[in-house]
Amino acid sequence: MLSGTTWFTRRTLHQALFLGSFTLLSACNDAPTAPNAASQPLVIEGKTMGTFYRVSLAGVDPQEEASLREAITAQLAKDDGEISTYKPHSVLSRFNQYTGNEPQPVSADMADLVVCALRIGALTKGAMDITVGPLVNLWGFGPEKQPVKEPGQQQIDQAKAQTGLQHLTVIHKAEGQWLQKDLPGLYVDLSTVGEGYATDNLARLMERRGIRNYLVSVGGAVVSRGYNGQGKPWRVAIQKPTDRENAVQAIVDLQGHGISTSGSYRNYYEVDGKRFSHIIDPATGRPITHKLVSATVISPTATEADGWDTGLMVLGTEKALALAKQHGLAVYLISKEGDRFKTYMSPQFQAFLVNP
Ligand code: ADP
Ligand code: MG
Repeated sequence: MLSGTTWFTRRTLHQALFLGSFTLLSACNDAPTAPNAASQPLVIEGKTMGTFYRVSLAGVDPQEEASLREAITAQLAKDDGEISTYKPHSVLSRFNQYTGNEPQPVSADMADLVVCALRIGALTKGAMDITVGPLVNLWGFGPEKQPVKEPGQQQIDQAKAQTGLQHLTVIHKAEGQWLQKDLPGLYVDLSTVGEGYATDNLARLMERRGIRNYLVSVGGAVVSRGYNGQGKPWRVAIQKPTDRENAVQAIVDLQGHGISTSGSYRNYYEVDGKRFSHIIDPATGRPITHKLVSATVISPTATEADGWDTGLMVLGTEKALALAKQHGLAVYLISKEGDRFKTYMSPQFQAFLVNP
């Protein structure tokens, strides 16, 4: 392990560690200052949303741990209660169960999340599509069980007919915000931005508590700001797509941004010897099959990074790089070419690299 480097183990493939300067997450402009004495960071971690969270804080009074833990747990429970598709009574699940076309009230945060996801959906020409839920469920990656055999074309067509970004609208008014559908079977799946959203909300929580030196992560999404216990910027390591622990592919200093990785390398299942990724191409209604094994994105927020990484995974290496160029995205792709892994990095991503 590299000293001063934080590792994040993901359910899927990578370990990543990020850091950033927190430009857009908060209206607060106080620059972080390195904690006075070298110390171990205070680490608060646990399980949430079927994955793990970790909050590392430097220069924080250890006596604050209990109240911080309570606030973190409450925030994560609030997020889960809004956007989980695994909890039948979450705000999102109730919206999915509702088959009418009346606007349904949601929180401002949730409305903003859906707006962000719809925007990335449009920019990726529907490759990232949060209405892909019926297909995710059909292929066995939703709250229901995995299929024992590959779905037939007719089933795929039926599920596909229940999808489409154009069927979901966010209404913003002075009195509140609402989601509205014009297709009774529309099923919104926010899993692909859920980790980023929860990570951004933890970062905002730290800001509200006056904490400026932190590194927070939920699953494969990370936000960091300021310095670690040694007075150095937090560093995030991206692991090579191998089974070997701690094989470093790249290390970045996030400077207040969010980072997220999506991959097809380990999160898949097999039916009759065929592999099925949990990422669905909305255009075909089938799991992706191309050679891109992971996409890592750095954006002003972890939510955006988490949305983009899935869209890029669906598009594949060439289209992902073209889109990165068009929108000036910081992306890092790992592609499997024959027996070898090849990496591609946009210039914007290179700006975040630090030496090991
Ligand atoms: P992970 O962090 O586990 O790799 P991602 O952020 O890549 O997760 O999101 C994958 C999840 O998003 C899937 O499990 C599924 O619920 C949903 N999903 C699958 N395909 C798409 C897609 N094309 N657009 C939006 N969401 C998708
Ligand atoms: Mg994602």
